[in-house]
Amino acid sequence: MKFQKSPGTQDILPGVVERWQFVESKARDICSRFNFREIRTPLFESTELFQRGVGETTDIVEKEMYTFVDRGERSLTLRPEGTAGVVRSYVENKLFGDPDVSKLYYIGPMFRYERAQAGRYRQFHQFGVEAIGSVDPALDAEVIALGYSFYTEVGLKGVRVEINSVGTPAVRAAFRERLLAFLEPKREILCKDCQSRMDRNPLRVLDCKTDQAHFEGAPSILDSLDEECTAHFDKVKQCLSDMGIPFEINHRLVRGLDYYTHTAFEYKAEGIGAIDTVGGGGRYNGLVSDIGGPEQPGVGLGLGLERTILLLEHQKTELPNLHGIDVYIVALGEAADREATKLVYELRRQGIRAERDYQGRKMKAQLKSADRLGARFTAILGDDELARGEIALKDMAQGEQRIVAISALAGELK
Ligand code: ATP
Ligand code: MG
Repeated sequence: MKFQKSPGTQDILPGVVERWQFVESKARDICSRFNFREIRTPLFESTELFQRGVGETTDIVEKEMYTFVDRGERSLTLRPEGTAGVVRSYVENKLFGDPDVSKLYYIGPMFRYERAQAGRYRQFHQFGVEAIGSVDPALDAEVIALGYSFYTEVGLKGVRVEINSVGTPAVRAAFRERLLAFLEPKREILCKDCQSRMDRNPLRVLDCKTDQAHFEGAPSILDSLDEECTAHFDKVKQCLSDMGIPFEINHRLVRGLDYYTHTAFEYKAEGIGAIDTVGGGGRYNGLVSDIGGPEQPGVGLGLGLERTILLLEHQKTELPNLHGIDVYIVALGEAADREATKLVYELRRQGIRAERDYQGRKMKAQLKSADRLGARFTAILGDDELARGEIALKDMAQGEQRIVAISALAGELK
């Protein structure tokens, strides 16, 4: 019997996992500078939370959720995105009692039943932030800036920011009529999903992946914005300009999730086949109350880590070498071998990355191993050296070797 991973899942092996660690540490570092704090919520939640929180007419809820009934007859769903769970936790733990804005971030796996391809998986990872408790457009701009900083600081080039305003529910109701007037004559040539969404949630039609060509000349929601929405959008644009964040306006950007109000944005980049969106987010002023909490406005983003890493590879971005060891202890002979066990443990305790041989190999094979591991030093322990309490320390880059007392090795390496 041979087992294989399920379609759409990936093993992240040593050699690649360092890229992940680098990207994740950047995300954490940026969040700490922007004063966002980590929140960890469960990988599964009640199905109803996502139906409500993500929206019945979204791709996610209509066809992508991993839903199952547990032994207690509850309908549960593996989280397809991060916002619903964070907002559920915010409400359940009464974080709204905090006088400051709740600025939260998460990094972790999400699950969607999709057709797997490069950049699209069934288990994938998102880095996301949520800022709940303020309607200030400066917060929308801050979240957009945070994502932009993330892409810039991991070293990606050519990431573009697109923004739009999807208004309030009242604005959307008015826009709906104008949009339907445009879509109705095209009904027959649109895909089945679009046809059904025209009746239930026409705005969502603009998010269709296959029919974009038919939407040329569609009315702009920006022309339907009321005074309040326009003022909010203007302020977001102003804040972005003040920070020097480049952006473009895309009036057809509506995002896949139902809960957005006012600002919607996406990060775009070329290089992953047909996929051009690497992340996105928006403001969600109705979401907290929709899932049973108080009226608290929020804004957030979700960035795909697989797509970030694919782009880093595509752009051949040099990453810092996170792996490697400081010293490889080459031990020759039984007594030396015994000393090596003690010595690597002592070095490791002192904060030095140390390795040794475990296969009784000859000197040459051990040195090759040190080379493969990228050891900065090798320390050769033969029976003679051992008898004198000494070890031969070799700097691999410089090639020079000197004899040091075993007891002084840790100090020398530091
Ligand atoms: P797409 O239009 O590509 O399906 P989406 O609108 O469904 O994306 P969001 O729900 O906004 O995506 O998720 C934010 C980010 O998460 C995406 O921009 C992408 O980087 C990543 N993402 C979403 N779905 C997947 C997936 N199945 N595999 C890998 N990454 C994904
Ligand atoms: Mg999708």
